Amino acid sequence: MTPEYFDVTLRRIIDLGNETRHFELTFDPGTRIHFTAGQFVAVLCPKDGKLIRRAYSIASPPEEKDHVELIIKLVEGGVVTNWFWSLKEGDRFRVHGPFGKFVLPEQIDFDIVFVATGTGIAPFRSMIRHLLPAGFNKWVWLLFGSRYDKMIPYHKEWVALSRDYPNFIYIPTISRPSAQWPGEVGYVQTKIEKFFPDPAGKRVYICGLNDMIQAVQEVCLKQGFRTEQISFEKYD
Ligand SMILES: Cc1cc2nc3c(=O)[nH]c(=O)nc-3n(C[C@H](O)[C@H](O)[C@H](O)COP(=O)(O)OP(=O)(O)OC[C@H]3O[C@@H](n4cnc5c(N)ncnc54)[C@H](O)[C@@H]3O)c2cc1C
Repeated sequence: MTPEYFDVTLRRIIDLGNETRHFELTFDPGTRIHFTAGQFVAVLCPKDGKLIRRAYSIASPPEEKDHVELIIKLVEGGVVTNWFWSLKEGDRFRVHGPFGKFVLPEQIDFDIVFVATGTGIAPFRSMIRHLLPAGFNKWVWLLFGSRYDKMIPYHKEWVALSRDYPNFIYIPTISRPSAQWPGEVGYVQTKIEKFFPDPAGKRVYICGLNDMIQAVQEVCLKQGFRTEQISFEKYD
């Protein structure tokens, strides 16, 4: 899939809380994107007569070719995220892509453990919404770390998928839970030993910020996972 430039219209913005938003970008009629779940696009942000590029993982499945969905966290002082926060539905800009090698192999003969925090959920949303409807029948775990239980991105979607697909296990874990939160508490790296004591037949995919990725990797290696069983995509 050779990267191409696409003109997009910002069709929808959904606020997900915790300074995080979901953006739907539609292509012009007749234009389609071909990508593999896990890849990203570069958004081209006009600034002072130049175009500034930033990578954003595609959060929608590859079967949906007339648009891409992104999930973006506002970064304090960040050039492109602040520009995103100034956009309105109907605004137009350009993206370039797809890019990236953080993808699943074509033949998957292992159970998959997805580990993410924050917007690191994006490539896994694309992969999960691709794999499960296609009849993937190995285990798929989503271990997702969020600061607040009332602002878990796509929480209802994960709950519905885990009801519809018995091989999909959703484990949200919250670092600053409310008094009502009945589930797991703490950082994702503290949950590896409890939920994945046996590395056999599993591969771990991690996405998000570097500190979390390093912490999860370290725990997985201590737990007996081999480096070949661990893949990651770093956002910073
Ligand atoms: C392959 C890839 C995929 C990515 N996918 C996503 C995605 O799906 N959603 C998403 O929100 N971001 C994603 N990112 C990060 C994104 O590309 C930008 O780096 C981020 O949005 C900040 O851009 P900015 O222009 O607003 O900040 P900048 O102006 O580039 O940075 C301002 C300051 O913030 C720091 N910073 C940069 N990024 C972050 C961050 N993510 N968190 C905290 N501090 C940061 C920088 O070190 C700098 O000091 C991805 C990055 C990569 C490499």
